[in-house]
Order: sequence, then C-alpha cells, then structure tokens
Amino acid sequence: MRKGEITKVSGPLVVAKGMKGSKMYDVVRVSEERLVGEIIGLSGDTASIQVYEETSGIGPGEPVYITDKPLFVELGPGLIESIYDGIQRPLDIIRDQTGDNIARGVEIPALERDVKWVFKPLVKKGDAVSSGDIIGEVKETVLVLHKIMVPHNIEGKIKNIKQGEFLVTDTVCEIETKDGVVKLTMMQHWPVRLPRPYKKRLAPSLVLSTGQRVIDTFFPIAKGGTACCPGPFGSGKTVIQHQLAKWADAEIIVYIGCGERGNEMTDVLMEFPELKDHRSGESLMKRTVLIANTSNMPVAAREASVYTGITIAEYFRDMGYSVAVMADSTSRWAEAMREISGRLEEMPGEEGYPAYLSAKVSSFYERAGRIEAIGKPDREGALSVIGAVSPPGGDLSDPVVQATLRVVKVFWSLEDRLAYQRHFPAISWLNSYSLYIDDISEELNTTIAKDFTDLTKEAMRLLEQEAELQEIVRLIGVDALSPEDRLILEGAKSIREDFLHQNAFHEVDTYASLEKQYKMLAVCLFNYNKAKEALSRGAAFNDIIKMKVREKISRMRYLLESELSIIDRLQDEVTEEFKKLANPGGRNDKGIQQHS
Ligand code: ADP
Repeated sequence: MRKGEITKVSGPLVVAKGMKGSKMYDVVRVSEERLVGEIIGLSGDTASIQVYEETSGIGPGEPVYITDKPLFVELGPGLIESIYDGIQRPLDIIRDQTGDNIARGVEIPALERDVKWVFKPLVKKGDAVSSGDIIGEVKETVLVLHKIMVPHNIEGKIKNIKQGEFLVTDTVCEIETKDGVVKLTMMQHWPVRLPRPYKKRLAPSLVLSTGQRVIDTFFPIAKGGTACCPGPFGSGKTVIQHQLAKWADAEIIVYIGCGERGNEMTDVLMEFPELKDHRSGESLMKRTVLIANTSNMPVAAREASVYTGITIAEYFRDMGYSVAVMADSTSRWAEAMREISGRLEEMPGEEGYPAYLSAKVSSFYERAGRIEAIGKPDREGALSVIGAVSPPGGDLSDPVVQATLRVVKVFWSLEDRLAYQRHFPAISWLNSYSLYIDDISEELNTTIAKDFTDLTKEAMRLLEQEAELQEIVRLIGVDALSPEDRLILEGAKSIREDFLHQNAFHEVDTYASLEKQYKMLAVCLFNYNKAKEALSRGAAFNDIIKMKVREKISRMRYLLESELSIIDRLQDEVTEEFKKLANPGGRNDKGIQQHS
C-alpha cells in the first residue's frame, strides 16, 4: 500500500507529504493506529486530511496509508435498526466490544457479517437485467421488505440465481455481462459524497402528511420536499422531529443526530428505540436507521454524518420507498465545517463559517426529491429532508439559518414566545411558510375535500386579522374594538386553541388524519361564520361567545379517528344553538326584526 508521511497535526486536521497520485475525498488511514481520514485539500504532493477519530498522540513522521478509494457506505440487509457513527461504524456493536470510549482504528464492518438473511429471488435464469433492477427481496424486519437491486453499471443476463439463507457477503446471483461473469452479493457500496442517480425527477405534488395540524393544514411538506425548523433551545425542535419520525407518511426513517452535548445524543439513543410505530405497534426502530455523533466524537465525523445518512436514505428511496431524513441539528454540522475550515486557514466568511457553507447546505438538501427510480419494475421513491437548525439565541439572521432558508421550501418557525405560553407545537403561524401549497392543493382538494385549501386560506386570514387587531388592542384596549372585530379575535382564538394547539403527549391528540384536520377546521370556521351572521342580525356579542357548543368544539381534538362523524354533527349543533339565539324570547329582537 502506498504511503505518505505526516508533517503536521492540528486537532482533527492532519497534513501529510508524499501523497502524490491521491484524489480529493480519498480515504486514508493515519499512523499505525490506522485512524480513518479523508483528503479534503491537495496541493502538489501535500494533502490536508480530516481525521474522523481522536488524533492525540499522533505526530509528524508517522505514516499515512493511501487507499485510493472514496468514503463509501455499505448498503444491504442489516441497515435497518442499526445505530451508526458518522462514518457508518456500528456504535452499538463497538460499544459492546470496547465500552463507551470507542477505541481508535477499530474496523468493524457496517453490515453484520455473521447474520443470515432469507433471500427470495424475483428474476430467473436467462432474464436480461441492468442497473437498478430488483432481482430479489429480503424480509429485513417486520416492517421492511429490503429489495436487492443490481448495482450501477452492470448489465447482462442472469446466469444463476439462488434461493435460501445467505450472509451479505455470499454470492446470490451471477450475471453474464459482455465483460464476463459478475457475482452479486446482497451488499453494494456507494461513495457518500456522490448523489445516487435516478431516472427522472417528479413534481412534488403529493403531500407528506404528518398528523400535525399546524404543519399539514397550514405549512405542509410534499413527499420529496425539504423543510427546516429553526428555533431556540426548548422551543420543541426535538419533539417535532420525533413526531414526524412517528407519524409522517414515510416508510423508512433515517435520523441523523449531531449532538452538541453528549447527553443530548444519549437521549436520542435511549428514546428512539422506545418510540412506537403507530401502524404496527412495533418499535419505530424496525424501520429506522440512526446516525449518531456525540460530542465526544471528533468533530470531523459530524461533517461526514449527513452524507452517510442521506446516502443510506437514497438507497431505500431507490427501492421505491418514501423515506424521511431528519437531521438534528444541522447547526452542529456547520460548526464542524467551520472548525475544519479554520484549521485549514481558509478565508472565513460570515461569523467564521467557510465561504462554501451555502453551497454545502444546498448540496445536502438538493439530494431530496420525488423520483422515478432506475430499473425494473417501474417504481417511484421519495426522499424528504427535514433539518433542525439551532442558531445561538434563536437568532434567524444566523448564517446557517440563512443558508438553509435559501434552499428549503418549508419553514417552520419555532418561537420561544409561544413555548412560554405553552402553545405547542410552538410553530409561528405568522412567520412560517410552505412553498408546496400550490403543488399539493389539487391532491388535497380531490382526496380530502374540494374546499380544503379555501378553508385554510380563510383560517389564515382570520389569524392575520387577529395579529393586526392585537396591535390596536395593545395601544387602546379591547373595548375600543367593534363587536365585529372582537368576534374576529374570538374566531382566531378558536383556531389557535381548538385547532393549532396539539399535545404531542396525549395519546389521541398526538395525531390527526388529514380528514380529521379538515373536519375540525371546518367546524371552527362554520361556528365563526354563524356567529358573524348572528351578530349582523343583532345578537349580542356576549351571548354569542357563551354558546354551549364551544365546549364541544374545544374537545373535538380528543375524538378518535373512528368518531369523526361526531365532528360533522357539531355543525348541526352550532346551527341549532344559533337558531335558539335568534329566537331568545324577546332579547335582541329589535335587530332581528330589522333584518327579517
Ligand atoms: P428543543 O429540542 O427545541 O430544545 P424540545 O423539543 O426538547 O425543545 O421541547 C421542549 C419541551 O417543550 C418538551 O419537553 C415538551 O415539554 C414541550 N413541548 C414541545 N412540543 C410539544 C408538543 N407538541 N406538545 C406538548 N409539549 C411540547
């Protein structure tokens, strides 16, 4: 193996000479300890190497072994339920072997080598196959059917295909190609920094429902879309990510945790396996891959972790699955870039982040999308990416937030003001946005209700009017408002409290189907419009807001999905009560007579 020689060590950055012939992003092994590193700068025969392991004790003069290979991931059965570090080393297995402080230079393969999987062939001898074709499947967990695909750049005829139990390294299929026979195992490799190809990109016209009312109804994300939720500490970023992992309409979850403090990540490692998949009651891990970087791991591994995670996600997308990637938090990832860039003595950009911060952030989110996969049978896959950003003090002018907002299409603005008021999810309805609304409105209006988007617009108008009126109230008090304006405040309050507010920890309220969301919103608005009508006919404001049905409206969130007809009947109750208000036996009949 060719080797160079270390000339300098600066934290996670190692400089080595004698590296002629190496390429950018090639993996090297540093010193006799064989620490994993990646070339991130080349000048003549000198290479700058970011090292994914602790470099203490390593010094000039020691060797750097050149592998001539990029950083790649292993893809195949065994990915699901794994907990990996940033360069796909299986953390749980390493921990069992070496304890909490991961020993350096450990070489444990990402996919377990001694587990047998039942391979079921789906093609037969003589069939013509090419890249991306599904040749067989493996029941990986109770929730995931793993499709075995022909790796890229292979084309030919099936010479032989097996059936039975195999290791990921066993040959399961032989393909006769024009360059000879190629043996396939159930495992393939892919370089993490290179997006996996697809046949065609599809429009983001399908909603990725999440069961979270403020998200689906007002700021929806499309399948294959991108979203971010920046927010200060304690505003609910983690709860949102967990809610999405549990409830989003995705078959596979890849959770990339870049922790600031070790204990935050430990929380993820402890909590995630406890989460339950609502459809099956199984552990959510049965359809999840976790990538975890605790703060006691070298910073460079955080830089790699998002690529490792998204490459695994693309692989499942190519099987035809809807995959959701959650990255929490991308701020920690960007800080890793900043640290490495500082050590490389590159010209710093804003707040010391490298000038290429934006480009890196974009290239990550641009790997999202809804696509037609390469290969037979025809299939569509989607990769949605949701990133949490944790700017210092929740400051949205932070460079990482700004770089993220330039590329993502959905912005859920988490506000500590709402969290203090215990309004959860603390997503601001005034500052957040979704650029997918036009793309997915047709689907919502045809599958849920034809006035779905009309209703959401009407509700949003009320909330905006409320914000304007609150300015006036602040200046001159609520008594200065006309009854009509006070009713607007009431209508908006009902939307906030009866609809937007959603308790992630209540077993029923935690999730609402799109149908339930529509029906709930329809009742809130129906009630408001009836009230407006009554007011214009002369009913007293104080009577209108004391309606008994209000109590039922405030409790509709606790109705089961099987009880949605009760919500429909609430509209009749609203109508009935307003009828009584219209004929109260004399009260307000002056106004009523005027209009009738
Ligand atoms: P962050 O990750 O932004 O620091 P967390 O996600 O840990 O914040 O949320 C902080 C706390 O806010 C949670 O422990 C929980 O008590 C409360 N919270 C957040 N979102 C919700 C929600 N949807 N329903 C109920 N409580 C919530």
